Parts: sequence; structure tokens; C-alpha cells
Amino acid sequence: MAITIKKIERGPKLTLWERSFVPEILRGMWITSRHFFHNMKTLTQEFALGGGRSKRSIMTLYYPEERPVTPVAYRGRPVLVRGANGLEKCVACGLCEAACPPHCISIVGAERDNGDRYPTTYTLDGAKCIFCGRCEEVCPKEAIVMSDDWAELCTYDRGEMLYDKERLLRPEASLARRLAFLRNNAFSKARYQ
Ligand code: SF4
Ligand code: SF4
Repeated sequence: MAITIKKIERGPKLTLWERSFVPEILRGMWITSRHFFHNMKTLTQEFALGGGRSKRSIMTLYYPEERPVTPVAYRGRPVLVRGANGLEKCVACGLCEAACPPHCISIVGAERDNGDRYPTTYTLDGAKCIFCGRCEEVCPKEAIVMSDDWAELCTYDRGEMLYDKERLLRPEASLARRLAFLRNNAFSKARYQ
């Protein structure tokens, strides 16, 4: 994958007219008004003509009935991957725990009778997580990934945001899109070499 480096202009020279911010204020009002009237016109047509959602081009969703499909690179709540055999893929190596900047992961590992390692407890404090994705980057087993969970994570009780292993586990099939993305992006390819 080719990586494009874009130079960002810092501190461009502004004219006196630009420094008055009037053009930018007018431009912002023009864009907001354009979206407002566009949405109004499209919604009016929909109600008048009984058109379906697919025929609309408005910029908003009827949340929570309609939910956005997040881009595959989106970093939502980290989750643990449950393999096809029904077991967690995590081997309790502790790399994610060590790499997590706000120290929100804690793991206790053990060995099964066949010698496989697994976490007896895996706790992730969602109130501390900064959604950086480092746990996903360092995991050698594709056992933790950033999911598309973004909605209704807030609560008045911090204890509810302490996710244990059972609350973190998600079937591998439901994370297929993210796993394919990780295998194909440039950074991950370097990791698997
Ligand atoms: S996303 Fe970042 S902050 Fe959250 S658990 Fe992973 S490493 Fe820690
Ligand atoms: S999730 Fe991955 S990095 Fe973290 S302990 Fe399990 S295997 Fe190791």
C-alpha cells in the first residue's frame, strides 16, 4: 500500500479581509444553510411522495432505529476474539497489558491440561480506555481487536464499564471485516513478516 505524505501548511499568511473572519463566517453559514434546505427539501419530498430511505440523500440518521456503518478502520471498543472452537484466542502473554498506555487491562493467566495458555480472568476498564488500538497492534494472536462498538457505552456507574472476559468475547465471524483489514494493512503486514 502506497503511503502518501501530505505537508500541512502551518501559519499561512492571511489578508486583512481574511483576518476579519467575515468570509469564513459567511462560508460556514452558507454550508449550514445549504444542508438545512437540502434536508428539508428531501424530507418534504419523502413525506409528500412516500419515498423510502434509500431514495433520500439527507445527512442525518433516525438513530437509534438507524445506525451508521462505521469505516473498517474505525476504532471502537476493544473486544476479545472467540475462535471457531468456542475458546478465546488469547494466550495470556501479557503484551497488551504492558502496551496499554492508561494501564486499563489486567490479566491472570493459567495453563490447560494440554499445556495451552489462556486467561482465567481478563479485565478491561472501559472508563480508562483511550481507544488507541495498541493492544490490537501488539497482540501476536489476533486475539484482541478494535470493534465497531461505539454506541451506548456511557453509563453513570463506572463499575459497569469494567468489562470482564465474558463481556469482552465476540465470535471471530462477527469480526471478520476488521481481521481482514488488519491482515491487509501495511503496518500489520510488516508485523506478520
Ligand atoms: S485501545 Fe489502547 S487504551 Fe484501550 S485497552 Fe487497548 S491499548 Fe489500552
Ligand atoms: S490479547 Fe493478545 S496480547 Fe493480550 S494477552 Fe492475549 S494474546 Fe497476549
